[in-house]
Amino acid sequence: MTDTDSTTTGPLGPDDITADSPFTLPGFFDALAEGRLVAARCTECDTQMLPPRPACYGCGSRAVTLSEQPRTGEVISYTSVNRPPSAFEHLAPITVAVVELDSSARLTGRVEASLEDVAIGDRVELRIDDPETVDIDPDFDLSYEEEWPAHVFELL
Ligand SMILES: [Zn+2]
Repeated sequence: MTDTDSTTTGPLGPDDITADSPFTLPGFFDALAEGRLVAARCTECDTQMLPPRPACYGCGSRAVTLSEQPRTGEVISYTSVNRPPSAFEHLAPITVAVVELDSSARLTGRVEASLEDVAIGDRVELRIDDPETVDIDPDFDLSYEEEWPAHVFELL
């Protein structure tokens, strides 16, 4: 992947957005499976989008580029989800947090801790797991999600 590759840096046209493009959710998870957490950054207004989007939701520009993200950050908001997606039903209630990564991009994700043990300002690190090796229900609703890596924040 290089900066001159039109599929990884904008302005993007409709033909650039294939299923393999990291600007799509499957492409985002492919990169995650390789251990890379990538956001899109708007080169016009600097908005960071995580997971990446092919156009900026801040200003509408298609001049977006990929930027690799740190896996550590801070909890800025959190809640308990009593009825999570079916793959996580047996873990309910689960804790979900909005985490501001050290790059200032924000990612919402599951936290491996009970609600009482989480507080705003807590430092967390994203862990990426092979779905085969973790305790989540393999009977996903959508077949294409089966091979997506599971990701969860751990308290530091
Ligand atoms: Zn923008």
